Amino acid sequence: MDTIADVAIVGGGIMGSALAYWLTRLEPAVSVIVIERDPTYSTASSALSAASIRQQFTTEVNIRISQASIEFLRNAGELLATDGEKPQLGLTEAGYLYLADGSGVERLRQRHAIQTLHGAEIALLSPTDLASRFPWLETRDLAAGTLGLKGEGWFDGYSLLTALARKARSQGARFLRGEVSGVEVQGSRVQTIALADGSRVRCGRFINAAGPWARSVARLAGVDLPVFGRRRTVYVVSCRARGLRDPTLPEALHAAHVDAARPGATRPFPLLIDPSGFWIRPEGNAFIAGLVPEEDPDDAPLDPDYDGFESRLWPALAARVPAFEAARLERAWAGYYDMNVFDHNGIVGFHPEVANLGFMNGFSGHGMQQGPVVGQAMAELILQGRFTTVDLQPLAYERILARRPLLELNVIG
Ligand SMILES: Cc1cc2nc3c(=O)[nH]c(=O)nc-3n(C[C@H](O)[C@H](O)[C@H](O)COP(=O)(O)OP(=O)(O)OC[C@H]3O[C@@H](n4cnc5c(N)ncnc54)[C@H](O)[C@@H]3O)c2cc1C
Repeated sequence: MDTIADVAIVGGGIMGSALAYWLTRLEPAVSVIVIERDPTYSTASSALSAASIRQQFTTEVNIRISQASIEFLRNAGELLATDGEKPQLGLTEAGYLYLADGSGVERLRQRHAIQTLHGAEIALLSPTDLASRFPWLETRDLAAGTLGLKGEGWFDGYSLLTALARKARSQGARFLRGEVSGVEVQGSRVQTIALADGSRVRCGRFINAAGPWARSVARLAGVDLPVFGRRRTVYVVSCRARGLRDPTLPEALHAAHVDAARPGATRPFPLLIDPSGFWIRPEGNAFIAGLVPEEDPDDAPLDPDYDGFESRLWPALAARVPAFEAARLERAWAGYYDMNVFDHNGIVGFHPEVANLGFMNGFSGHGMQQGPVVGQAMAELILQGRFTTVDLQPLAYERILARRPLLELNVIG
């Protein structure tokens, strides 16, 4: 016998779980089923993410999402508590620091103007400001930097994912282990979803939250989606040379991010984005870092690019923060960016012709921070027929058909 649901969601990552949470919170009577082929999330982007949040975008819609996202993250303990137990997300608001050399300074200023226009609290810093706030930074080749003063930092992404899924379950959402292998469309509607084990799900709405695999799910319904899995390696870097704490770096850097409240302390170590194309931020007692890849094939196997550390990341890192000459690669992992190659922005809403087919796809490296708000917006669209909290209309699928890109310029890696 077929399973029946008002809303069937494929993919139980941050997008699918956030939607299930919001649907069952806003309308307890709605029946929601999340179909996830791998409940361990071993290759899901949400489990392999750097889980950082910023306000420094260049499109208004992304800045609006970030403003709502940071509020959600600050209150997530209360919102997602189950049986009196509050999830600990470890939200650290240490800011993003974008750096620019002479060739990038005008672009940085323009982006800063857009961000402040839309209410993001971002400081534009001169090389002298940078040197005094971040004494461990090499500033000689820099022309400016922008630092998020509020609402930027990082959190425990896996805890957010599991807390959303657990809360959604407690509110009545069903999570079904299975792989969507077929989508039956009749007229302008998805009628039935076929699973690889031969079972079927009949649904009122079918939502694609399949992350980097969203293109293949859309294709099952005869729809084209410009979303590709693009491998990104995350390097875990420590600064303990041969097991000993380096005398210069760790004191300066760790004091910087652990003890920011101390009188006279320097600023916490932020998520730094270098003009050469790497990013780095603290993670526990170490740091995590990544690079813009030289080649970027679609759906490459998820093996970390170990060579990238030695040949590209380390030299660039040591040039920017000389104390990282003592850096050591501890380990690395790789995950997929769910890259929307059309314009590097999320695709949210329903298909104009297959009217009950919805998308939460293509977040191109910023889906973790956007998940809770996109989930809320999509739930509003399903239940109320329109976006009420944050207007995500600019992210509609129609822009792809009309060939009207909404270009996000601040995409990391
Ligand atoms: C290295 C890295 C760093 C990142 N850093 C950040 C960051 O700092 N900040 C940020 O905001 N974002 C970041 N991102 C991006 C962010 O992690 C993703 O945008 C987000 O996790 C996408 O969530 P999702 O739920 O759409 O996809 P996923 O988490 O991939 O979930 C999709 C799920 O769909 C399931 N699925 C797929 N096909 C099927 C099928 N046919 N049947 C059943 N199930 C299926 C998969 O098993 C998977 O669990 C990063 C990503 C990576 C890889």
